[in-house]
Amino acid sequence: MKQNELRQRLEQGNLRWQRRQDSQAELRRETAEKGQRPYAIVVACSDSRVIPEQIFDAGLGELFVIRVAGNVLDRHQLGSIEYAAGHLHSRLILVLGHTGCGAVSAALSGGGDGFIQYITDEILLAVGQERDPLRACEKNVEHAVEILKREFSEHPEIPTEELEIRGAVYDIAEGEVRWL
Ligand SMILES: [Zn+2]
Repeated sequence: MKQNELRQRLEQGNLRWQRRQDSQAELRRETAEKGQRPYAIVVACSDSRVIPEQIFDAGLGELFVIRVAGNVLDRHQLGSIEYAAGHLHSRLILVLGHTGCGAVSAALSGGGDGFIQYITDEILLAVGQERDPLRACEKNVEHAVEILKREFSEHPEIPTEELEIRGAVYDIAEGEVRWL
């Protein structure tokens, strides 16, 4: 497909979105007017098969989603989470890894080049000597959960006793989310 065809595909998709006359269109108007109140924060991988809103059957305004390859955390992600928990009053943070994660595989096979290395280094830090892909994925999620618990256990703007921080792994074939 040529580049202008790709752009057209995006434009046509957006037109369909604008023209929708269903519950999502209603929600669009409602959340634009009244603001967002996402009930959960989801840290997920950028993998195109891992779309939290679809996985959790959620609509506009329900999930505050941070997506980055390998669902790793750095300061930008922590800032986003702090905003949602502190200002939008989301009370659940979920770190969602997934089966067949390319970032985890890249880390296990020695790490990536260029900017990718920032991601694979973080994953390697999390997985240590583990080389089983699924267990490595779980350890990567557990590592992010530990960081969140450390950073948000005593926070002046977040009622930490009300905040739940959890990890899970999404099966890209079955669609199941397995909570850790
Ligand atoms: Zn992934």
